[in-house]
Amino acid sequence: MQKQTKAIRTQAQQSQNREHSVPLYLTSSFTFESAEQGKALFEETEEGNIYSRFSNPNVTEFVEKVCMLENAEDGIATGTGMAAVFASMGALLKSGDHLVACRALFGSAHQIITQILSKWGITHTYVDATATEEEWEAAMQPNTRMVYLETPSNPGLELVDLRMLARLKAKYGFILNVDNCFATPILQTPIDFGADLSVHSATKYMDGQGRVLGGIVVGRADLIQSIRFFARHTGPSLSPFNAWILSKSLETLDLRMERHCRNALQLAEALDTHTDVERVLYPFLPSHPQYDLAKRQMSAGGAIVTIELEGGFDRVKAFFDALTIPTLSSNLGDSRTIVTNPNTTTHAKLKPEEKAALGITPGLIRISVGLEAIEDLIEDFTQAIAKSAEVLKVGV
Ligand SMILES: *Cc1c(COP(=O)(O)O)cnc(C)c1O
Repeated sequence: MQKQTKAIRTQAQQSQNREHSVPLYLTSSFTFESAEQGKALFEETEEGNIYSRFSNPNVTEFVEKVCMLENAEDGIATGTGMAAVFASMGALLKSGDHLVACRALFGSAHQIITQILSKWGITHTYVDATATEEEWEAAMQPNTRMVYLETPSNPGLELVDLRMLARLKAKYGFILNVDNCFATPILQTPIDFGADLSVHSATKYMDGQGRVLGGIVVGRADLIQSIRFFARHTGPSLSPFNAWILSKSLETLDLRMERHCRNALQLAEALDTHTDVERVLYPFLPSHPQYDLAKRQMSAGGAIVTIELEGGFDRVKAFFDALTIPTLSSNLGDSRTIVTNPNTTTHAKLKPEEKAALGITPGLIRISVGLEAIEDLIEDFTQAIAKSAEVLKVGV
């Protein structure tokens, strides 16, 4: 079956009410028909729900769908994307282990690695996403237990070659853990390239309408078993309500990503030909430095376009003031187009040298391209570029 069919036709078992749409199981616990059943459920000789911190029908449905989309053996859902990232590391790493990660990481992942794991004696080495195989290999140590990366990265849209990392994995035996949030399982399935785990902030495209928070980690059954133990006892559970929303949203993920990506490519192409835009980054633009890799690894370029305008923060302010359709927010992956200035918001806390390494300049703008009509978006961006160019003249 195709992904689209699986995402629509995977459902929790119908109740005796014969409902068509899966109901919301807002219950913290589940009853035992007998003392024997309670015993069997806790002994795990019988499978079933006990308590919603462990499992819940809405959450299980969401997990099953994502496992199917990612070609994963098993999975566990969490209350946020960060809880999924943290559980995948907290459950599988121990004191004395070493983690290799790509330098371009979501801010909170960077904080977990540098401020929290470090307290537990877990060391790390950062590698540029675009590093060569030799450079990645040079970061490996005898105690390297996990490689964690994002591809494409935020906001620079750098790609990591998943096949290359899978080759290194075969040699060094680490756990390959990929944050697949930007691509979604519709555009890229890291497990098919050899990754052991794929983690997501479901808050982004999986929800797709900026409503609820959620996260999920899927992958190798033995690793998920350890993460399930960690999550069951530390409690970062996904709420049944959010799972219900997210599972319904997965029914349209394929459809939405198709439009998101088409809009993003058209906007990127339009801005690329614009003489007043310094730089346009989009994985499926031939000018992207890793265009060939993007074509090998992803079925479409995603819905984030990053551009640079001349004139620094003054230009960004004028540009944002002139835009009429996009919203200013630090979120992404919404049906509504969102613009962000990473230098002053999401990446503001980085040191100047860290910003330089990630290409975060004052005039950099991350566009999370939404589902609006592309003609309207191109027209709006074009007029805002022209209008904001005024500051370049009066600035001196
Ligand atoms: C948003 C995001 C996260 C964190 O997810 P939350 O749901 O906000 O906790 C992690 N990784 C990436 C790439 C993200 O965009």
